[in-house]
Amino acid sequence: MEALLKRYDLDRLAVATIASHTALQILRAAKGRGFRTLAVARPSSAWFYRRFQFIDEVWEADLSNFRPVAERLAENNAVLIPHGSYVEYVGWRQALEAPVPTFGVRRLVEIEADQYRKMDLLRRAGIPTPRSYSPDEVDGPVIVKLFGAKGGRGYFFAKNREELLERLKGVNEPHIIQEYVFGVPAYYHYFASPIYGRVELFGMDVRYESNVDGRTFGLAEPTFVVVANFPLVLRESLLPAVQKYGEAFADAVREALGEEMKGPYSLESIIRDDLSIVVFEFSGRIVAGTNVYMGVGSPYSVLYFDRPMDMGERIAHELELARDRGRLEDVVS
Ligand code: AMP
Repeated sequence: MEALLKRYDLDRLAVATIASHTALQILRAAKGRGFRTLAVARPSSAWFYRRFQFIDEVWEADLSNFRPVAERLAENNAVLIPHGSYVEYVGWRQALEAPVPTFGVRRLVEIEADQYRKMDLLRRAGIPTPRSYSPDEVDGPVIVKLFGAKGGRGYFFAKNREELLERLKGVNEPHIIQEYVFGVPAYYHYFASPIYGRVELFGMDVRYESNVDGRTFGLAEPTFVVVANFPLVLRESLLPAVQKYGEAFADAVREALGEEMKGPYSLESIIRDDLSIVVFEFSGRIVAGTNVYMGVGSPYSVLYFDRPMDMGERIAHELELARDRGRLEDVVS
């Protein structure tokens, strides 16, 4: 990436992302900070992104063959901001190899794709996680996660070992069996800044999920398809633990990958009634829940800056400082 960045015309630095997920938030903020903005869209949704003046160019592309798109982005001096839909449309293998500077730590997409490695990294950080079991060890309610599960489908529950063994009969795919943790979900948004040398607790959200939050009256199987997000603030007494886990995650990434954590990421948790926090997932890039603060900024962002910022603005701010200080290679991979 360093060699690629050397060829960049920094006066024409562009911010690019895939037109979905958090693209509006990212590109609105980038334009506001004076960057050129590029959206790479699937043909079905390109028209929507053309409605917005803060997007300079909307390209239509076949994302299943990403290399030529990445090459064209690099020719356009673009830094790519990865998000959940990017990883989903392009696939982690292509994302890992795309020849374009990518904001954050791109090797995390490979770890995220594997439930075992994902949980391993969290445990390595010393963050409390749900117990994992083999079927014989199960002594209470469990959630079973199929590796191929997408968008909140493909999980199921069992009340006890007997029910689990019965339900596992039809399952041939790789999966993990996890303790079902009782409590409320809370998703934390962090930003690791190489420029300021700190991890910022930037915001949090809770998801609105179709068949668990919907009016199903116990008639439908629970699914976790995310439809929307709500903003969230926590009891202040919980914040030190949330900050500690965020920093521990960044330390674990450095230890495991030999690379500084950088950019937005998220820890996804359940908080029990004894106020203990159990983290069942991480996302090594911007999460869609940050959209709840688009244009208004999160309440936690004012603790670091003298005005509210959304995560898109935070990314653009870091990029701007990195460019001006000759440190772009510290914020991309
Ligand atoms: P995910 O797709 O991994 O974000 O998980 C979907 C939903 O499943 C989350 O929003 C949680 O509400 C729930 N969930 C996942 N793992 C657990 C667990 N071990 N215990 C309780 N709830 C969980």
